[in-house]
Amino acid sequence: MGSAAAYQLVRRGVRVLGIDRYSPPHVFGSTHGKTRIIREAYFEHPAYVPLVRRAYELWQELEKASGQELFLQTGGLMVGPPEGMLVAGARQSAISHSLPYEELSTEEVRSRFPVLHPEEGMIALLEPRAGILYPELCVETNLALAGALGADLQYGERVVSWQCGNGAVQVTTDRGRHDASHLVLAAGPWLSELADFPLPLTVERQLFHWFKPSERHGLFHPDKCPIALWEYKPDSIFATFPDLGNGVKAGIHHDGEITTPDAVRRDVSHEDDQAMRAQMRRFVPAACDRILDSRVCLYTNTPDHHFIIDRHPEHREVIIASPCSGHGFKFSSAIGEVLADLVVAGESKMDLTLFEAGRFGKRQ
Ligand SMILES: Cc1cc2nc3c(=O)[nH]c(=O)nc-3n(C[C@H](O)[C@H](O)[C@H](O)COP(=O)(O)OP(=O)(O)OC[C@H]3O[C@@H](n4cnc5c(N)ncnc54)[C@H](O)[C@@H]3O)c2cc1C
Repeated sequence: MGSAAAYQLVRRGVRVLGIDRYSPPHVFGSTHGKTRIIREAYFEHPAYVPLVRRAYELWQELEKASGQELFLQTGGLMVGPPEGMLVAGARQSAISHSLPYEELSTEEVRSRFPVLHPEEGMIALLEPRAGILYPELCVETNLALAGALGADLQYGERVVSWQCGNGAVQVTTDRGRHDASHLVLAAGPWLSELADFPLPLTVERQLFHWFKPSERHGLFHPDKCPIALWEYKPDSIFATFPDLGNGVKAGIHHDGEITTPDAVRRDVSHEDDQAMRAQMRRFVPAACDRILDSRVCLYTNTPDHHFIIDRHPEHREVIIASPCSGHGFKFSSAIGEVLADLVVAGESKMDLTLFEAGRFGKRQ
């Protein structure tokens, strides 16, 4: 989010200082693991659709500006009970925003994508525009373009505190002090430490794994195998990716222990692997035996799993961005634009009502 905001701000001629405690992209926050899903028929809420449409446009612009390939279109399957949270939610978003989609029966999924095995009683919604983004490359690209346009990017520098006064923000880091007219706080799992007002965020340890296909490797190729979300039990989802040459990636969404970025267990145990293996055995049996690699990442969750993108309640020059809850990356190109708009114009063209920081005190 910070790299996209830096690029979008410097494009507008704003003087930008970007500060990161590590050297992004890195493996300590939420933006590593080689791939992220982008999808449009958004089961979480139809209000995300305009944001993801803008994100697609901006990813394309970034590809053009950099010559990098950041997005791979694979199509996307939302698999589950016909009226479950996933399929019904995706259908509702598709209908309300006139998005193209197909509904496939269990048999149709199995015959079109033979390595994917939904169970009886499940159907799938297939959306054509879904696919994969390469998160590390996206971050690198935003930062490279921002740097080329004059952004001052400081790595290995940790923000310790900030304060506002006389219409300016003073930021204290472990290296010194910086003065600015505005501050964008996009600190991922560290945001609560820096926001300076109570945010109802919890950090969740999240795993992903790469499985070696045991047979029929070619059928996991991205030309033949879409990304898929699976509602494997009511309101519980895991995701699978095609094989990009390093195995079939899979991860269970929201299945981890609550932790902090400092205390999190960063190693993966045999027990950790078993939960994912059990779901792969059920639904993707041609890639369930050998795990090639497993990694730990962090979700920063709000209670309703919608983002926080808002101004600080007491300091209008400070903007808070927590677009995680496990599904923020795809939007980051557009969220960079939103954050830049909030700084430069004081408002965004996007409807940010769903993301207001103050909503948690109100009756939902
Ligand atoms: C396993 C996993 C799978 C996911 N899958 C998807 C997916 O398929 N599709 C999707 O759209 N989203 C997905 N997400 C969510 C998505 O990756 C996140 O929403 C997104 O990456 C969050 O980015 P961020 O910039 O908010 O946080 P981060 O990437 O963590 O960035 C925060 C940055 O702030 C810096 N920082 C923190 N504190 C300080 C400080 N005090 N001083 C200086 N710098 C500081 C950190 O070093 C870090 O670089 C997934 C997340 C995980 C963990």
